Amino acid sequence: MAINLTDNPFRRADQRPQVHVAHGHGAYENTRAVLAKLDLSGVRGKRVLLKPNVGRIAPPGSGITTHPQVVAAAMDAFIEAGAQIAVGESPIAGVKTLEAFAALGLDVIAHQRKCPLIDLDVRPAVRVPVPEGKAIRELKVCADVLEYDLVVSIPVMKMHMHTGVTLAIKNMKGCLWRRSKVDLHMLPPLDGDDEIPINVAIADLASVLRPHLAIIDGTVAMEGLGPSAGEPREMNVVVAGADAFAADTVACALMGVKVRDVAHLRIGGARGYGVVNLKSIAVSPPGWRKWAQPLARPPSSIDVRYPNITVLDRNACSACQSTLLLFLRGYGRQLFDYFPGKSNLTVAIGRGHADVPTGTLCLGNCTARHRDRGIYVRGCPPVTSEILRTISGKPLSDVLDGLSRTHESSADTPTEKMPDKCPAHKHKN
Ligand code: SF4
Repeated sequence: MAINLTDNPFRRADQRPQVHVAHGHGAYENTRAVLAKLDLSGVRGKRVLLKPNVGRIAPPGSGITTHPQVVAAAMDAFIEAGAQIAVGESPIAGVKTLEAFAALGLDVIAHQRKCPLIDLDVRPAVRVPVPEGKAIRELKVCADVLEYDLVVSIPVMKMHMHTGVTLAIKNMKGCLWRRSKVDLHMLPPLDGDDEIPINVAIADLASVLRPHLAIIDGTVAMEGLGPSAGEPREMNVVVAGADAFAADTVACALMGVKVRDVAHLRIGGARGYGVVNLKSIAVSPPGWRKWAQPLARPPSSIDVRYPNITVLDRNACSACQSTLLLFLRGYGRQLFDYFPGKSNLTVAIGRGHADVPTGTLCLGNCTARHRDRGIYVRGCPPVTSEILRTISGKPLSDVLDGLSRTHESSADTPTEKMPDKCPAHKHKN
């Protein structure tokens, strides 16, 4: 079972892929403008699932999650076209879906339009075979995703530390059930293939979970340390197209990224899942390229900005990376107060460490087996308050009294929940 693309009302088989771009009029109007270029008559009477990127708890305009007015505009366009709509998401580990919706104000927006908000993690997963998969053979998919007539991927335009960019194709990873998403970050190297396994896995995912339509929110994009610790960048642009690979390709061009440098798009394009050659895509309006704003690339390693801190990252997923980045950003300067006499600190995240140096700060359940080598902070992902409490040995309130609280985002992303084990993993913690 996969998303059925044989009957895509947004696409005409006899045409080369069409992608529409709108700029300069804000999130809502830009979205209405690109959707006005599409023939929505085929959605009448259909059940349409809108899948924005609400994988983290973040306010509107942060560049972390899809702008709520893009989702609102999509809701209005589909309701006016006679569709029965819902908005669904399965966020990253530790984030509660309805809290993430509320942080964006989507609860109010949806209520005003009588549109259900679905926590895709509530129902049991459906096991979906991936016959063309090279890195994965099966996925646990949220049931609702497979039951709606049409699925619309509505990502926010972001750079990504692991995958280059995260756009409409990568956003479909949020259709995977609960912590099974983490499995894509834990894949072993592929026999005879030097490609990073997660990039192959996302191309594999696209073989069974491609959306019928992509609406890419570039109202406020994220550059640098995406997907959550980068800088917001106002672009005031929205992109839409029925071929999600083609829409992602146009978005890449607007971000100043060559699609050949984005492995999951390059691989998926080569397999025929969509068009990634700009010359083969009909983009409107003709002058769209003038709206491009090259975005800063993610640095090659997390510790670039913290020269006295060495980060050992072995197969960590972005939830752990984000926690560490936000922690360092908020508290990095004061960190050595808790390690008197030390001028360097090693921090380990991720599952793949055979060993770590003595004295390492081991963050997250994946590093638990090295707990005797230094200081261990549990959690999947770990949270800032627990890191502070563990390194100080004091109650959190005492620690915060002594530390700058200037970085408001560091007050725990994603949440305070700290399971003892990583349920998605078969390894011992
Ligand atoms: S502890 Fe492991 S599984 Fe959990 S967020 Fe960190 S890297 Fe991912």
